[in-house]
Amino acid sequence: MIQYPALSMIIDGECVSGGTRRTHAVLNPATGEVLGQLPLADAADLDRALEVAAAGFRLWRRSTPQQRADVLQGAARLMRERCEEIAHVAVLEQGKTLSEARVEVGMNIGLFEFYAGECFRLYGRALVRPEGMRSTVVHEPVGPVAAFAPWNFPIGNPGRKLGAPIAAGCSVILKAAEETPASALAVLQCLLDAGLPPAAAQAVFGVPDEVSRHLLASPVIRKLSFTGSTTVGRHLAKLAADDLKRTTMELGGHGPVLVFADVDLDRVLDTVVSHKYRNAGQVCVSPTRFIVEDAVFEDFREGFARRARGLKVGDGLAPDSQVGPLTNPRRVEAIDALVREAVAAGARLEAGGERIGNRGFFYAPTVLSDTPLSARIMNEEPFGPVALINRFSGEEAMIEEANRLPYGLAAYAWTGDGARQKRLAAQIETGMLGINTTMIGGADAPFGGVKWSGHGHEDGPEGVMACLVTKAVHEG
Ligand code: NAD
Repeated sequence: MIQYPALSMIIDGECVSGGTRRTHAVLNPATGEVLGQLPLADAADLDRALEVAAAGFRLWRRSTPQQRADVLQGAARLMRERCEEIAHVAVLEQGKTLSEARVEVGMNIGLFEFYAGECFRLYGRALVRPEGMRSTVVHEPVGPVAAFAPWNFPIGNPGRKLGAPIAAGCSVILKAAEETPASALAVLQCLLDAGLPPAAAQAVFGVPDEVSRHLLASPVIRKLSFTGSTTVGRHLAKLAADDLKRTTMELGGHGPVLVFADVDLDRVLDTVVSHKYRNAGQVCVSPTRFIVEDAVFEDFREGFARRARGLKVGDGLAPDSQVGPLTNPRRVEAIDALVREAVAAGARLEAGGERIGNRGFFYAPTVLSDTPLSARIMNEEPFGPVALINRFSGEEAMIEEANRLPYGLAAYAWTGDGARQKRLAAQIETGMLGINTTMIGGADAPFGGVKWSGHGHEDGPEGVMACLVTKAVHEG
């Protein structure tokens, strides 16, 4: 039986907890029970972490590509060995199913292995100059990074936030979500056990606004990396702007899915329904607004609702569960309010629309159709198990609806028409587009959004470049 571990911060390689520090109760979302008490940083902890991060940067920036690659490869190996334990802990504190958590560990391993290769490819270039002159362009690590990771991918988000700075030669202070600290600590521990100097990567927890204000006010930090809501992202970007720190912002989305009449509807439904309810819909690239061509609208909504009603919702550790609970009670209240408002505004409730039981934070897979565009849920990211299915007539109107919102993270389209595929690729305003697929990521693919969904990328070569600054050196 895998036990939930004791919780601490990791500052300069030491487990820090206790004393007069405040604590936060970490809950199991499947039961509501307390798993452990997380120590929260006070100002002295954060000052110490900053001092260590400054020293860690001086040390790690001089590491060789081979040393960085060895750490990332070693951490990937340890994650493979510890997969069951890490996945189990992630389910306990976040709620997703065990099979999803295992996939998440696997994705993190793939990312660390990819970044290990990238350590050798941080090429600069030589410019053509008259004989006797030499001009080179080099990329250098930006400096200590303050990274804030949310709770929805408790392994993968911390992995992204740690992997890229480490590959680039930066130090990093990670504040992962207080809801899911043990998974983040397990990822960091793999890196430390693989030989990463303790000053190069640390983990703190705290009252989010206190921690971000403290870290971002320090001149030690040269880059902010944040994943979370657009509202919080905007607030943090303003804090970072005071000191002109670099930023990578992975923010909210409201994924449009265009479904044209020329597709195999059953195949599309099988794919998009499971994608919708993955992680109980708590995914920034979740498909949310289904923009369905009128000829197939009735069949699509009926088939979607039938499949949604058939999903088995339960504790993520139960082998037959297909959808776990929401991660915290805030999400249950937020989703319920959005659904109720939509129904009051005229939406048709096709499936779900209510909490399941009083134990834990379960919400039924929900389908709404014909929701008025003015309803709040059609404009704000629901971030939960709700699909919104609306009828549209013609490609132009469907593209217009896809681009209606200020978000632009992930978009999907299903059509067999090759010429239309090219038009969609050109016209949909988004950071990532899946045409006839929901597979829009990968260790080698840039992950990021446009407009209110943020800027900058994680994963791919772009993820490491985001932790580098460019220097031109001209020698006469
Ligand atoms: P929230 O907006 O309060 O928090 C979102 C995340 O930001 C959390 O991880 C939180 O710890 C962190 N955060 C909040 N205030 C912060 C601050 N001042 N400084 C630093 N970090 C801060 O909301 P929530 O209830 O935790 O999550 C709900 C919303 O967050 C969702 O509607 C969704 O839009 C967004 N979210 C997005 C992602 C994503 O992958 N893009 C992940 C989780 C949550």
